[in-house]
Amino acid sequence: MTLQCPRCQSAQMRKSGISRHGHQRWMCKACGRTFGDKNHRRIDSQTRDKALALYAEGMSARAIERVVGVSHNSVLGWVRKEVEDYALKPPPAAEQQVVEIDEMWSYVGSKKNRSGCGGG
Ligand SMILES: [Zn+2]
Repeated sequence: MTLQCPRCQSAQMRKSGISRHGHQRWMCKACGRTFGDKNHRRIDSQTRDKALALYAEGMSARAIERVVGVSHNSVLGWVRKEVEDYALKPPPAAEQQVVEIDEMWSYVGSKKNRSGCGGG
């Protein structure tokens, strides 16, 4: 089993107890980050960022599925999570990024308002 720290990619870690769901928890020896050892497949953050960037460009989730190779359900889940996260806690004063996020919000909003799945 190969484990890597999601923050610093170190492979040096020790066990850090069991979560209440029965998953092994690990702590990175290098940076102290703790994380779970989940069984479901992982998609690296680069792939996720690429999918989100394409979505923000106006590409449909199903098109992203073909281009990036992840399911459109994953793509839509990430988009929803991004929006929810930003809605809960607005990003710090990085104003350039706020503009981009606003554009994505309005894009996601217009998709939601449309009923059914149009041909785009
Ligand atoms: Zn680490």
